[in-house]
Amino acid sequence: MSGRRLVIIGGGLAGLSAGCYALASGFRVTVVEHNLTLGGVCTSWYRGGYIVDGCIHWLTGGPFDSIYRELGILPDLALRPLQEFVTYRDAPSGASVSVCSDLDRLRDNLRSIAPHDVDEIDRLIEGAVEVATMSPSIDRPPELSTLRDQVRLLGEIAPHARALLHFRGSVDAWASHRLHSPRLRRLVTHLVPDGAPALFLLMTLGYLSRGWLSRPVGGSGALRDLLAARFHDLGGKTLLHSTVDEVLVRGDRACGVRLADGSELEADAVFSTASAPETVFRLLGGRYGAGELRERMGRWSLFEPALLASFGVATPFADTPPSLLIDGIAPFEAGGAWNDHLHLRLFNEGPEFAPAGHTVVQAMVRTDYDWWAQRGERYNDEKELVADAVLAQVERHLPGITAATRMRDVATPLTFWRSARAWRGAYEGWAPQPETFTTRLPRTLPGLGDFYMAGQWVEPGGGVPTALMSGRHVAQILCAEGRREFVAPAPALEAKTG
Ligand SMILES: Cc1cc2nc3c(=O)[nH]c(=O)nc-3n(C[C@H](O)[C@H](O)[C@H](O)COP(=O)(O)OP(=O)(O)OC[C@H]3O[C@@H](n4cnc5c(N)ncnc54)[C@H](O)[C@@H]3O)c2cc1C
Repeated sequence: MSGRRLVIIGGGLAGLSAGCYALASGFRVTVVEHNLTLGGVCTSWYRGGYIVDGCIHWLTGGPFDSIYRELGILPDLALRPLQEFVTYRDAPSGASVSVCSDLDRLRDNLRSIAPHDVDEIDRLIEGAVEVATMSPSIDRPPELSTLRDQVRLLGEIAPHARALLHFRGSVDAWASHRLHSPRLRRLVTHLVPDGAPALFLLMTLGYLSRGWLSRPVGGSGALRDLLAARFHDLGGKTLLHSTVDEVLVRGDRACGVRLADGSELEADAVFSTASAPETVFRLLGGRYGAGELRERMGRWSLFEPALLASFGVATPFADTPPSLLIDGIAPFEAGGAWNDHLHLRLFNEGPEFAPAGHTVVQAMVRTDYDWWAQRGERYNDEKELVADAVLAQVERHLPGITAATRMRDVATPLTFWRSARAWRGAYEGWAPQPETFTTRLPRTLPGLGDFYMAGQWVEPGGGVPTALMSGRHVAQILCAEGRREFVAPAPALEAKTG
């Protein structure tokens, strides 16, 4: 079995991660990537002297650090731990609340805007502390977990049963049932994606308090480049700007892929990290698992599409928080969807994104996929109009930004589709919801051998660490099914760079 050939569809984080683990376990690996660059949605790009970061707002470490080390991301990637998740600003009153890493301070901050909710705020803070003490099973995929692993997991969950039960629904449901203060309700629901499980909020706050949320120095591009370098150092091959059109199947076993130019690559196994609809309906022609997927698509929501409007400005905005949530604004439309709050990222924490004295300000707003898909020849003009509309909103909160703007960049859901084949702009796959979060999706398709799936479409809710972990897990499953030893790349002990 030595040197078995593995083809991986997609050179995003999951594909590269799976490739690293498979290479270390003795496979010959080729990653086929549709885009001109690796990284998938975890990317950044140069624009007019600035770097636009298209991804990481926060990187989750803690239990995931071991994976970052195996993949050569740590210790080379320098991190800036978050002292504050976001500053929440209520536009009508001008009041601000810091969602900070010091949970005692956070408790006081929340109590100050919601004095009638002290008991529930206490529960939230205690729950956050509890959830952060639980260690998610990262080392082994659930498919390979032993009885001992399951007993350990149960033992770990049992002491926290009360908190888990109390926060078992979505953040929205918890907020509307348990909180009196409308302002606190709005604050907590805006901290996480719509409909996300309350446990997700607890985890975010708990991890924040332990210093496990950070932003990489150099942004998403720095993380992507370290992972790609690790993949190449381990001997992996990549085919860029190459789109897989079909997974080749012989006798119900995947045996290679056919690319858009008609060429074929043979393989002993194929991994797909493409979206679930792309994989099941297009690449496999709906012959395996289509009914299950159709049923799931009828029940589950996709991650809401977003528009990123980024502005390079000749103002450092040094005293403005790097993450700012402005709520209660007069609703404005951006590409077919209404927004009643603004989420701003200011890349003012380091010098790497803009020339000295400048910074990049990025607004992430709700938008509609179909609206953009139907713009036709007006697409580029509409991008400019939406940039104008967003900038006008930002101007109210960062006065002077319009006059200081030197660069504008708009990424629509079609940008995510064009560059990373993000299905209907769902750049993180399935939306994180109580049901999707607790459902374990299979990484294989019924009736098809030598074929496995990894990445955010089998790990609902997506995320950088999850995509990387998913790559590890699928390589472990491949090795286990082939009775081959799984080998993780040796973690680096010291940074290569100074
Ligand atoms: C704006 C934004 C903000 C985010 N913020 C955070 C954050 O703060 N923290 C965090 O942890 N995560 C964040 N994420 C999510 C995280 O980046 C993703 O969940 C993760 O990178 C997904 O990796 P993946 O490999 O599963 O998928 P993808 O990155 O989608 O990779 C799939 C790859 O497959 C390729 N592909 C698809 N079909 C084909 C085909 N037929 N042929 C060839 N190639 C194909 C695509 O081009 C793509 O490169 C954010 C994402 C975005 C876009």
